[in-house]
Amino acid sequence: MKITNLGFPRIGRDRELKFALEQYWRGEIDQAQLEAQALTLKQTHWQWQADAGIEFIPVGDFAYYDHVLTLSAMLNVIPARHRQLNADGTAAKITLDTLFNIARGAEVNGEQASASAMKKFFNTNYHYQVPELEQDQVFELAFEQIFEEVEQAKACGHQPKPVLLGPVSFLALSQAKGEFDKLQLLTKLLPVYEIILQRFAEQGVTWVQFDEPILASELSQSWQQAISQTYQYFADSKPSSIKVLLASYYGDIQHHAQLVNQLPVEGLHIDLIAGNQTAAAFLPTLEQQKVLSLGVINGRNVWAADIDDIAEQVQSLINDYDEQIWLAPSCSLLHSPVDLDAETELNDELKLQLAFAKQKLNELTELGHLVTHPQSERSQHIRSLCAKRKQARSARRNEAVYQRLDNLTEQDFERGSAYKQRQVAQANALKLPSLPITTIGSFPQTAAIRGLRRRWRQGELAELDYQQHIKAVIKDTIERQSSIGIDVLVHGESERNDMVEYFGEQLEGFAFTQKGWVQSYGSRCVKPPLIYGDVSRAKPMTLDWTTYAQSLTDKPVKGMLTGPVTILHWSFAREDIEREVIANQIGLAIRDEVVDLEQAGIGIIQIDEPAFREGLPIKQSEWQGYLDWAVKAFRLSACGVEDKTQIHTHMCYSEFNHTIEAIAAMDADVITIETSRSQMALLDAFEDFAYPNEIGPGVYDIHSPNIPKQQDITHLLQKAADKIPVSRLWVNPDCGLKTRTWDEVEPALVNIVAATRELRRQL
Ligand code: GLN
Ligand code: ZN
Repeated sequence: MKITNLGFPRIGRDRELKFALEQYWRGEIDQAQLEAQALTLKQTHWQWQADAGIEFIPVGDFAYYDHVLTLSAMLNVIPARHRQLNADGTAAKITLDTLFNIARGAEVNGEQASASAMKKFFNTNYHYQVPELEQDQVFELAFEQIFEEVEQAKACGHQPKPVLLGPVSFLALSQAKGEFDKLQLLTKLLPVYEIILQRFAEQGVTWVQFDEPILASELSQSWQQAISQTYQYFADSKPSSIKVLLASYYGDIQHHAQLVNQLPVEGLHIDLIAGNQTAAAFLPTLEQQKVLSLGVINGRNVWAADIDDIAEQVQSLINDYDEQIWLAPSCSLLHSPVDLDAETELNDELKLQLAFAKQKLNELTELGHLVTHPQSERSQHIRSLCAKRKQARSARRNEAVYQRLDNLTEQDFERGSAYKQRQVAQANALKLPSLPITTIGSFPQTAAIRGLRRRWRQGELAELDYQQHIKAVIKDTIERQSSIGIDVLVHGESERNDMVEYFGEQLEGFAFTQKGWVQSYGSRCVKPPLIYGDVSRAKPMTLDWTTYAQSLTDKPVKGMLTGPVTILHWSFAREDIEREVIANQIGLAIRDEVVDLEQAGIGIIQIDEPAFREGLPIKQSEWQGYLDWAVKAFRLSACGVEDKTQIHTHMCYSEFNHTIEAIAAMDADVITIETSRSQMALLDAFEDFAYPNEIGPGVYDIHSPNIPKQQDITHLLQKAADKIPVSRLWVNPDCGLKTRTWDEVEPALVNIVAATRELRRQL
């Protein structure tokens, strides 16, 4: 038995990579300094792994921006607009700057070259740069970073295991520029991988890991065929010293067991955390003397593993197949924060329950010890620690929360009447003009506002003073909206740093780390809250700010909340209860806030769910199961109000093609969505489905500093009106305005109001 790893976070325990990158982009350090910082990080992470007893240290998991982008460069997949030209017109060598230009957009050869698209990496919150493939794509080995890293690791005395995304997943994640089948490119792509394997062999590498997370999805015949073809090709062409580990993760691959068991590879990694597969389906792999790497430590979460339970599960396989079994994290540790030891403010009880990337390596060491020396004193100690954790978890149970959940009835998930009747009640209560104009919630978060929050948090600003200052911001925000002519106002969210953190900090069951950062894309990191206990609301969270805003105006002020599904997805949720149960717990807490707002006279309440789609499983066959409970959790949060109270929801970065039925089932009275960039194409799904409730398609692309002109907005509104009856249309920006300045926001909103009024006159 061996313990191994699939990949380590590259960002650094103190986000050193982020800061080095940003310094480099600002021109404060040069490339040599950036590379030196990167090398220090790699060396530190390799050493941690070696110290934990990890065999075959993964190399190639490091990337300056994104590992998919590095691979694209390696394979010469560079968008033509980013191809720098030499003086003689020939293509220049690909450099680190080429990669940064592709990711961030830049001026290349005197012309503006837009960034390539960014997409979520499978079902994670990591975003990759989408490779752009031409029909006549030429693949060749064009970027050497990984070979240098192999040398760097060897120089430190490690035995490196290069890690690359496999050819099939690479193609699957790519975008075809034009009308052709990406799979046609496979035969041209494989020879470059062959050269890469040759180079690794020359460097004295034995194991090479090819990640094929695409195996977790349902694959059509031709994509399954591509998997067979690829790994047969490698078996036929690779140097005999090279061994291939095919790694799957983010879901089970039991449905492809027959296919993968037959592949001529030397090893197979399976994820035993995501999905429901067991190693049993892969016994044929073991019977053929291949390695089976068992992904038993969750690579995507922060919780300490029940090593004792895991040891029990894997013991018999190890007894039978000893040498052939590797114990590993379920997937690359890319999605875990780096080092729990950097947390100085967490209480000991919670800390006992946690393991970040570095601690996960130790868990593998301990697991290895447990299965090889089950009777040792150390093993006794490990087991008692596991028992202690379990006990602490059950002691924390909040019975009242479960009672409330148990007492829920169907009615708690239903509004009093159907939408048609609610619409009448709301029209009477709210008296809004046709094409009502609103915004999505946040207004510019100026440096002054961020300064206020910072001083308050650091205790430099007394609570009451802070409140006065924020109220002044709210007053200003209300006045500006009124004078611009917005119909449904918002308080502006100036008191919120982040739409999830703000609620997490006030809810029971949440905790926050100081340095629990994970990479989202490039130099951007997120620090998700931890949901470690049962969630409940001790006291109102938004009531004071909202009612204060309402007291300043006769127009309706829309209450602003984050929905249960989004709070869940953007947190590290506990694993000892079902996600569905956690979603309902949060749903009840938000419901309490909704009801309080209604009672305080707030007639419109928005429950944001921008992350609704993010929870979709990799396998389409599992979507419905997810959507069922996600919709219910939202409805639980929303359905405590009377007919006349109008519930809004908001979703951005979404397509709705396969989820429109679920979106309709959420039964929000109004949904606002991001549509301006797609020129309203995203509305088609709503039109085709005959979506019954009201919709606010975004007419202002808030990601851009450009101010939309009145005629652009009119044009978008007319397009929207072609698809959705005007009686059910709202007018609003794509998303919140917190990243924009007032100089941009005010004229944009003025134009929105002018375009809307003009259209109203024509009705
Ligand atoms: N209400 C939030 C805002 O306006 C919504 C943000 C989001 O959709 N991501 O900022
Ligand atoms: Zn949004």
